[in-house]
Amino acid sequence: MTNALEIRDLRKRYGDVEALKGVSLSVPEGSFFGLLGPNGAGKTTFINVLVGLVRASGGSASVFGYDVEDDYREARDRIGLAPQEFNVDRFFPIREVLEHKAGYHGVPPEEASRRADEALKQVGIWEKRDTRFDWLSGGMKRRFMLARALVTDPDLLILDEPTAGVDVQLRRDLWELVTDLNDRGTTILLTTHYIEEAERLCDEVAILDSGEIVTVASPEDLMDQGSDRIVVTLRD
Ligand code: ATP
Repeated sequence: MTNALEIRDLRKRYGDVEALKGVSLSVPEGSFFGLLGPNGAGKTTFINVLVGLVRASGGSASVFGYDVEDDYREARDRIGLAPQEFNVDRFFPIREVLEHKAGYHGVPPEEASRRADEALKQVGIWEKRDTRFDWLSGGMKRRFMLARALVTDPDLLILDEPTAGVDVQLRRDLWELVTDLNDRGTTILLTTHYIEEAERLCDEVAILDSGEIVTVASPEDLMDQGSDRIVVTLRD
């Protein structure tokens, strides 16, 4: 079976900073995979390589068998990304933003409208469809970012710290939503600082520290290992 992600000796250097120092990782199709690590560990860089925002300095990464550089289009079309930063076109109604996004990924207009509605309903902000992004509340913006990731019906959903700074209710809603998506077959890659979040959601967790994978384990094993250093670091 093809893995959702196959990463071999992936490296990224920004000048003097080695953000990724030879990361190797396999993420099985259908899994809920957690990438944990403290600030500056290289999590966002890793994601940016996968979606083609950053070019690796060495090694390789493939998404469902498609190389992220050589087969960029095929790899990218399979990924839905909910990034940490809100990088959205702020001046259009959010439904239109989603239609454009689906269109950009090759979805015909009628189908794009249908998917936009579906994604907005999935995250519970369909009634805000004619509102522009700027006018949404912080929590709704988070929900919208998830809708934007879902509108292309991705096989791999990447969530970059989706619950950082959100209230308890929204956190629970997001957890329920992504668990449901995973149950229906979507592979999920989640980055988080919270070991508790990984424990609750993930089948398997990799710890990234200073650009290196230090452990890959089930969340239970990770807690059992009593790796105080890691747990304390992550709780900081
Ligand atoms: P956080 O949890 O704070 O988001 P992270 O694990 O996502 O951190 P990255 O943002 O990938 O970590 O950063 C990894 C390292 O690479 C850090 O030392 C960071 O300062 C550096 N870095 C990231 N982007 C750039 C860039 N564009 N230019 C130079 N250095 C960068």
